[in-house]
Amino acid sequence: MIDTVRLTAEEGLALVERGEVSAGELHRAYLDAIADRNPELHAYLRVVEEPEGTSIPIALKDVILTRGVETTAGSKILEGYLPIYDATVTRRCKDAGLTLLGKTNTDEFAMGSSTENSAYGPTHNPWDPTRVPGGSGGGSAAAVTAGLAPWALGSDTGGSIKQPSALCGNVGLRPTYGTVSRYGVVAFASSLDQVGPVARTVRDCALLYRIISGRDTCDSTTVDVPEVVLPDGESLEGVRIGVPKEMNEADGIEPGVSEAVRRAIDLAAELGAEVGECELPRSVDYGLACYYLVAPAEASSNLARYDGVRYGLRAGGESYDEMVEGTRDAGFGDEPKRRIMLGAYALSAGYYDAYYGQAQKVRTVIAREHAAAFERFDVLVSPTSPTVAFPLGAKTQDPLAMYLSDLLTIPSCMAGLPGLNVPVGLSEGLPVGLQVIGPQFAENTLFRVGHALERAIGFDVVPERLR
Ligand code: GLN
Repeated sequence: MIDTVRLTAEEGLALVERGEVSAGELHRAYLDAIADRNPELHAYLRVVEEPEGTSIPIALKDVILTRGVETTAGSKILEGYLPIYDATVTRRCKDAGLTLLGKTNTDEFAMGSSTENSAYGPTHNPWDPTRVPGGSGGGSAAAVTAGLAPWALGSDTGGSIKQPSALCGNVGLRPTYGTVSRYGVVAFASSLDQVGPVARTVRDCALLYRIISGRDTCDSTTVDVPEVVLPDGESLEGVRIGVPKEMNEADGIEPGVSEAVRRAIDLAAELGAEVGECELPRSVDYGLACYYLVAPAEASSNLARYDGVRYGLRAGGESYDEMVEGTRDAGFGDEPKRRIMLGAYALSAGYYDAYYGQAQKVRTVIAREHAAAFERFDVLVSPTSPTVAFPLGAKTQDPLAMYLSDLLTIPSCMAGLPGLNVPVGLSEGLPVGLQVIGPQFAENTLFRVGHALERAIGFDVVPERLR
């Protein structure tokens, strides 16, 4: 019997390689686990029954195009849309022999922090199903934690990989902007969107990053990336860790979260790292406001393509205008509508300079502040999320409270930097994640730090109720 809730991707790969299990048997084991637990968790929007690959399975967030398999981005406006091509990341997974298990739930167009904005109903947290799994990639994070996939892909604009990984207690990487192709990924805010891995261990995360990263002629923002080194060993000798004061002492960080993060930082020092304090004052003060101009502005432009002509849903109407209006009114939920309005306003004549233009300048300030910190430190650390997983419904009536979930993940996203979430402990019985941020292309350093802490802490990523 394969215990999917314990099996790491690395172990699965070894089993297949040694011929001890076939790709088909492994696929079946996960399908059984999905049949058993997905009705409660709703991590998957749809499952692919026929195994196609020769290796272990993978789950993909439903913003990633899969040829012939419905892709909705969690929206009614894309209901029934069957892509005629694979995203580059899908193709790379298939080329590596991976088998598509299914498409995971997401906030509509990846807009949200709890997966409650999905038009198909929320995902539940495997640690406590009355709580959210985070978002927007709550489906991928919950699937990995519950043993419904050995690993998965997510997408991250302002925290959608890191934050759900923190709330579900697994490892998630938002890679450096430009390292992973977005060709065939439903666009939200193109100057921020990145695809990245969600896994149960740092090494699994590195293995999957190795598969998906690198230059792609179909996405001109991609570049060649340094060779991925699988982390091994526990020493942090020679690593300089910066602790940004504002990100570790911000209002709203729960005491239990602070404590677990503090313990992890002390442990890093015991493992040989040099730990020092630093400052990122403007990044924390203005990051969120800046993001909520830039991201909606780009979203209002990207979402203009859903007009009833090209994809999915189409409403009736006497004229073209009526049809487009009817389609967009019926197809988009409240959050995309809110962002389209915010974004169109911020880009409108007379306001452009005051809002969008100003936000772009602040973005440069944020990038410079991070660059200055990286002159002294190899990585920066903070809590990933100010809180542990919150109850379903707790923030749905208050968009601003929901936006604050991303206070600590957004600044480094604005600066295009990579960030890794590593689970470091529990608070009130729920996982706490540490965010490790690095300079551009420093993924290997993040893996090294994450792996050392993971080994030293020995956090059990399997929720108590599934052990
Ligand atoms: N929660 C943030 C938002 O709602 C980030 C989402 C994301 O990274 N896709 O925009």
